[in-house]
Amino acid sequence: MSIPVWAQLAYLGAAVCFILALKGLSGPKTARNGNIIGAIAAVVACAIPFFYLDLDHVPLILVAVAIGTAGGVYGARTVQMTQMPQMVALFNGVGGGAAALVALLELHEIVSVSADPSADPGWFVLLATAFTILVGSVSFAGSIITFAKLQELMTSRPVVFPGLPVVFGLALIGSLALGGLLIGDTTMLVGVVLALLGLLIGVLLVLPVGGADVPIVISLLNAFTGLTVAAGGYVLSNTLLLVAGTLVGASGTFLTLLMAGAMGRSVANIMFGALKGGSTLGAGEASDRPVKSAGAQDIAILLGYAERVIIVPGYGLAVAQAQHTLRELVDVLSERGIEVDYAIHPVAGRMPGHMNVLLAEAQVPYEQLKEMDDINGDFKNADVVLVVGANDVVNPAAKTTPGAPIYGMPILNADEAKQVIFMKRSMRPGFAGIENELLFEPTTTLFFGDAKESLGKLLNAVKAL
Ligand code: NDP
Repeated sequence: MSIPVWAQLAYLGAAVCFILALKGLSGPKTARNGNIIGAIAAVVACAIPFFYLDLDHVPLILVAVAIGTAGGVYGARTVQMTQMPQMVALFNGVGGGAAALVALLELHEIVSVSADPSADPGWFVLLATAFTILVGSVSFAGSIITFAKLQELMTSRPVVFPGLPVVFGLALIGSLALGGLLIGDTTMLVGVVLALLGLLIGVLLVLPVGGADVPIVISLLNAFTGLTVAAGGYVLSNTLLLVAGTLVGASGTFLTLLMAGAMGRSVANIMFGALKGGSTLGAGEASDRPVKSAGAQDIAILLGYAERVIIVPGYGLAVAQAQHTLRELVDVLSERGIEVDYAIHPVAGRMPGHMNVLLAEAQVPYEQLKEMDDINGDFKNADVVLVVGANDVVNPAAKTTPGAPIYGMPILNADEAKQVIFMKRSMRPGFAGIENELLFEPTTTLFFGDAKESLGKLLNAVKAL
């Protein structure tokens, strides 16, 4: 049925809001408003069909909406910041799965009227249907595996088995053949087998990826879901779905490329590195080499009498939820006339923008957050670099050790500062699972303990100076 003009205009308005939402989300000051605009547009878009379509099963739809809303609100309210990547994976997965199911239902519709030649949907619609079924299923299964890896419901190490590339290749060829078959011989059986093959491809695609690379795969699958939704929009003749899907597809692709670039790796290396034995990311052993360590009083003296201090926050800051105490410490140092900045590495933490979000939550002024390229030249002038729960993002192996999992990743030049203080709990390595030579340099001091507790002690010691 044709969509009335008022509904088309409302869809257009919602599409414009999605673009404005993305624009808002690109900066910390406007992100909250961007999020709200996007959410309102999504609600409006979901409500429109109730007013112009003669829907069947309305009570059932409303129950589904209620369950989805309750689950979404509960999940968003209770999720820890460090669990955000798996939350995104789950949302993304159900999006891809929903698009595949809608395409299967459309296929059912097409099959049931196939006796009528005037109802021929044309080869391109069938192609878009096959694409939506296949890629939506890949995205669903792949996202569920990424969720299981990050939630530690299964091992986060790369899982490979002999013959995996062959099975993967055959599944891929089989799915392309079935996609072609669906256009010539449109049956439900072909559609369902295509969906099952998609699920298998999704699982095989993500199994060989190591834990530290999983967030990048989530972003890639997110791009897949976007493309699926866009194709679904074409099948359903719904412009809003087409626009929204294209936006998600494009932004997911950019994010994937940006993250891979920030890690100095190619997307192909991230996805298929383990198949060549190249991806060794995962848990590593704690080092027993001797290091210099000190307590709060000594570190407070180093900090309190410095002129220039740079803070390097990392994943451990998020784990310890120590951002508020860190901000208090920086305030006290600034009041003493010390110039303090935060150096933000693009892949510090476990998701893009993780440190920005964490520090914004503690009301750290945006001006104090310095991007890697802007601050890297400044480390040589710093008296003290305070590394709070970070490791890989300052590991010189990225520059010096070809073959290391992070080799080629641009890092923060903390090693150029006069003094480096590491706050961490043990000698365990960072997420890449490799030793950090900077911990053993004569200019480095370790301050062992949970970041929140250690920062609390340091704060009191600096105040007492
Ligand atoms: P790392 O994982 O390298 O290091 C985290 C450090 O925090 C560890 O040394 C750990 O040591 C310490 N730590 C953990 N918990 C605490 C705590 N409660 N108190 C004090 N210290 C703690 O983190 P980085 O941020 O330096 O690097 C991020 C890594 O994640 C990189 O390898 C990056 O490539 C990867 N990654 C990031 C993505 C992103 O988008 N941000 C996406 C994909 C991967 P200890 O256990 O001894 O305390």
